[in-house]
Amino acid sequence: MEQMIGQISRHRSAPSPEPDLAPELRMIWRGAPSDLHRWIDVIRLLRGAGLRPTRQRLVLGRLLFSKGNRHVTAAMLHDETMKARIPMSLATVYNTLHHFTEVGLLRRIGVSGTIAFFDTNPSRHHHFFVEDEHMLFDIPAEDVGIDTLPATPTGFDVSGVDVVVRLKRRPC
Ligand SMILES: [Zn+2]
Repeated sequence: MEQMIGQISRHRSAPSPEPDLAPELRMIWRGAPSDLHRWIDVIRLLRGAGLRPTRQRLVLGRLLFSKGNRHVTAAMLHDETMKARIPMSLATVYNTLHHFTEVGLLRRIGVSGTIAFFDTNPSRHHHFFVEDEHMLFDIPAEDVGIDTLPATPTGFDVSGVDVVVRLKRRPC
């Protein structure tokens, strides 16, 4: 049994929010007072980052930060709000993700001209991107060595180097 559970968890993709989260999210969205202890961490996280805990930020913060590290696009997160029957627009999701990024709660990873992922682990690390499947996963920072960087233009310092290694599945 233990072995089976181990196999399932090893093969599971990025963690998704708990299935029973939807009623809680709808309660917060409606502005009902909540004394659920699980929300306290999200409120603290937002306030600690200097953000007022609006209902949009609370709902998205709870989806993003309640379970392990996640890589999501605005569309993926918008799907999750729709599944929880929360009438939030894609533009609101996108703006909120950008606010979270501006204050350092998220890291934005641009993987192509049109796709950006938001990473709940803002520490420095790199990524594999499976192009045909729009899947992003971590490479530890120490697994990538960069020997040569170009000279920075006058007046600039390097603030970070992000590596995205693009993958394609081998044809069977
Ligand atoms: Zn990551």
